[in-house]
Amino acid sequence: MINKNLPVLLLREVLVFPFSEVRLEFELLEEKQLFSLADAYYDNYIMIVVPEDPLEVDPEITELPKIGVIGKIKMKMDMPNGKTRVIITGISRAKILGYTKEDELFEASIEENTRQVVDEKVELAYMRTLTKKFDSYVKEVPYLANNVFPSYHNAHNIDELTDLIALTLSVKPSRKKEYLYELDAMKRSLMILDDIDSDLEILKIEKELDGRLAKELDQNQKEYVLREKIRLMKEELGDINDKDSEIDTLKEQIEKLKCPDTVKDRLRLELSRYEATNINSPELGMIKSYIDYMLSLPWNTYTEDMDDLHEVRRRLDETHFGLVDVKMRILEHIAVSKKTNGLTSPILCLVGPPGVGKTTLAKSIAQSIGRNIAKISVGGVNDEAEIVGHRRTYIGAEPGLIIKGMKKAKSNNPVFIIDEIDKMTKSVKGDPASSLLEVLDKEQNMNFVDHYIEEEYDLSHVMFITTANDLSQIPDALRDRLEIIRLSSYTEYEKLDIAKNHFIKKLVKEHGLKEDFIKFQDSAILSIIRGYTKEAGVRELERLLSSILRKIVVEQMLEKEEKEVFITEEKVEEYLGKKEYSYDEKENFSSFGVVNGLAYTIFGGDILKIEATMYPGKGELVLTGSLGEVMRESARISLSYIKSHADSFHIPSYLFQENDIHIHVPEGAVPKDGPSAGITLTTCLISLFTRNKVHPSIAMTGEMTLRGKILPIGGLKEKTIGAHRAGIKKIYLPRENEKDLEEVPKEIKKDIKFIFVDTYQDIYHDLFYKFKRKGAKEHEYIPIQFPID
Ligand code: ADP
Repeated sequence: MINKNLPVLLLREVLVFPFSEVRLEFELLEEKQLFSLADAYYDNYIMIVVPEDPLEVDPEITELPKIGVIGKIKMKMDMPNGKTRVIITGISRAKILGYTKEDELFEASIEENTRQVVDEKVELAYMRTLTKKFDSYVKEVPYLANNVFPSYHNAHNIDELTDLIALTLSVKPSRKKEYLYELDAMKRSLMILDDIDSDLEILKIEKELDGRLAKELDQNQKEYVLREKIRLMKEELGDINDKDSEIDTLKEQIEKLKCPDTVKDRLRLELSRYEATNINSPELGMIKSYIDYMLSLPWNTYTEDMDDLHEVRRRLDETHFGLVDVKMRILEHIAVSKKTNGLTSPILCLVGPPGVGKTTLAKSIAQSIGRNIAKISVGGVNDEAEIVGHRRTYIGAEPGLIIKGMKKAKSNNPVFIIDEIDKMTKSVKGDPASSLLEVLDKEQNMNFVDHYIEEEYDLSHVMFITTANDLSQIPDALRDRLEIIRLSSYTEYEKLDIAKNHFIKKLVKEHGLKEDFIKFQDSAILSIIRGYTKEAGVRELERLLSSILRKIVVEQMLEKEEKEVFITEEKVEEYLGKKEYSYDEKENFSSFGVVNGLAYTIFGGDILKIEATMYPGKGELVLTGSLGEVMRESARISLSYIKSHADSFHIPSYLFQENDIHIHVPEGAVPKDGPSAGITLTTCLISLFTRNKVHPSIAMTGEMTLRGKILPIGGLKEKTIGAHRAGIKKIYLPRENEKDLEEVPKEIKKDIKFIFVDTYQDIYHDLFYKFKRKGAKEHEYIPIQFPID
């Protein structure tokens, strides 16, 4: 069965005893070769040998032991990680007669049968003694029971029994090796009995020690638990101490706080509540936040006002160019407020399109009179609680915007800027405008009560300045309390002045450039204004100038030299890319039935093109372009007016009966309303019916009655600025607006011809009639001539 020669497996870390099984992994090529060899030629038998020196990688034959264990490979598996897993069973000890070595592989010639012949009874006696001894041992070392109990009771002979026990005994590896090399089972038995005895002795001593240790450990644990308890108690006590000292500090702060007595009493009460509240109660934090908030409010802290009106003017001039009338009004307001101690003067409201300087002007006012600033925006607010706060019972309650603003202001008399008061909306959560009214009303605001604070707060020393884009959207009750100061759109030249005298200086400095080195040509600035911006204010202009300066900074840093930069129109295009708007190249209206109106929106004035067309139908009027009711009525009025005067306009009446008429006002998504498009609608229809084109540089605005009388319009200044920006050269206006012409900037008056009219006939005659060719028949009109005179 067993070959006389067997390939040798050198096992360094593990001892394989007969009757035991090991699972091992091998990765060396020689070892793998060995297993293949055993598989191919030795029926999977190998000789397991333990080298004397486990660290010696390549032992000499002479260094190898003369006894080993025959093993059988029960399973061999190549793993994905390149290793080979092998299960080997130890079969029996064998004497090694000699080794040979070939290609790094050892082969051993062995003497198979090493089992000593013993007397059966003697063997049995040994086995019993050994089993009994080991039983008692296992009792003392309970963990062994699970592993070995069944197997050693089933041992067939003394060899098997000794090997099974030797395997499990906890002895040194060198002793185990001795078991392995002992061929005589009786001798092994005696060795084991000895070892068990000495181990039992050791166990006894261990137990005694354990007992003592356990006692000590118990003591230690007790101490630990006690210490832990003390620590927790101390921590708790420490906490109480923290809260105590906090209470002391709060008490001190409350007593020091400059505030009305009622507030002080309230704070003392809250503090005692805080004191009485359990540290784990969620209320504790709420009370603390409330006390902290109250302490952080400026109840009686005032800043000293600067009374020097010159300084105010100087400051306003420094931050804002132009705006002469506006600044005058502000000065008047401040002067009167000073005289009357602010008691009678209404609240300032700066109204105008975005970017014209409302907010910055308000800040300037604050700085010039030396007051702190609070600023809030109420745009989009639809909940009263946002203004006056949430009650403290509400989870996450906090004060409203006014009290929050006061906290930031840090004084009781700041300039309080409220932006966008025209953009609040009513909702189920209340009307914020009426709450704001309470805030602004001098009669009431000295006793302002925020729902969170619950105590009266005096707002009467605050200088409120509000801003809005659209006056018509401010609720009447609120508007009554406001002193309106209008800031209108800037004309191109005003913008040019602001850029030259204000922005460039400021921005060049901000960008770390040298003022003398950066020169903008006027035409360059104008080209930015005309070609890249379409705004009433100057915000975009400022942004574009910044953008150019940023690019210059980059250029200079790349070239590593600061040189003079002269910015021309061409340079502007280089820096900002192609122009976005082109006002000068006017779109040539290729068709009749297109006329420019003028609109006034919150973004300033602009032209409003109106188009009309007709097609065979039954005389219906179709209106599109998100037109409001008033504008729709204007269109009907215009058509009725034209129909009733068809003869005088030389329009054959069959046109109305056999066609449907469609009027559209482009940018269909933008809602439009108001009566001032009346004359534009009429002109548009006449142009359509008479096939006369109206030049795109002409615009008009005015309400028209059914009888053709022309009524005045609002927003003349804004509309003319918008028209000028759009390159309009001639505007028809209601006669009654002539008086408003003085508010129109002179550079606009210089560029635009204004024609004031009383009735529509005036426009008709000026626009269409005079082009009637001499001697032409009634219906023959010549399309309008260009250029316009
Ligand atoms: P608004 O509140 O009207 O929307 P801002 O007060 O925010 O406008 O002003 C926008 C920018 O325009 C600010 O940088 C401001 O300094 C500037 N600005 C507006 N008007 C002037 C002006 N007349 N002179 C100088 N800068 C101005």
